[in-house]
Amino acid sequence: MTSSSPRVLIVEDEPVLAQGLAEALGFQGYECDIAPDGRDGLHKARRGHYDVMLLDIMLPHLSGFEVIEALRGEDNKTPTIILTAKGAEEDRVRGLELGADDYVTKPFAIAELVARVAAQVRRARMDRGDGETFEADGLHFDLGRLTATRGDEVIPLTPREGEILAHLHQKRGNVVTRDEFLLEVWEYPTANVQTRTVDNTLAALRRKIERDPAAPVIVETVRGKGYRWGGETT
Ligand code: CA
Repeated sequence: MTSSSPRVLIVEDEPVLAQGLAEALGFQGYECDIAPDGRDGLHKARRGHYDVMLLDIMLPHLSGFEVIEALRGEDNKTPTIILTAKGAEEDRVRGLELGADDYVTKPFAIAELVARVAAQVRRARMDRGDGETFEADGLHFDLGRLTATRGDEVIPLTPREGEILAHLHQKRGNVVTRDEFLLEVWEYPTANVQTRTVDNTLAALRRKIERDPAAPVIVETVRGKGYRWGGETT
């Protein structure tokens, strides 16, 4: 793919929370690895080239503070969101002082954390200035930043939506079937995911980006076949 999936390292010793985060982020198109303690987290962060690290503070072997301090000491700038306990304001301050980029306080809504992760990915990719860009229907798509901009309006895209748009745009003029989306974007064997998932995701994306859903000019449905890029090619 043109824009590879952002990679997230989840350093969290509560397995249910770690797994829940991995699933929620995975559904949005992130690739996640889990480290169940600080030592493993540091090891993975040093080798993994992650776009974002989610870092719990109270961890076995090494605390989140020790992990972030070690990484920043080695000039490893992996964007990091620390997960702090409710009421522990000094943890938040200390984490940010040691070089964390953002924090969320437990218990948090998964949707909020997913939004914070997306913000970190966008910022990092903006700094790097990479990614594919194109225009359609007055929208400027920047798949590096994961945004669609129309005038002053900035519409954030998920990594999965970015891949869908990249795929449609690359194959403009041709129909992209649901099976092809499942294989190329979801990277699942077709038997494991229902084609309805593709339809639901495309419908949600169109609601976000198209001015008039009755007259779609960016994504066209080709009845019984799949989808086609409907935008002017620039
Ligand atoms: Ca913990």
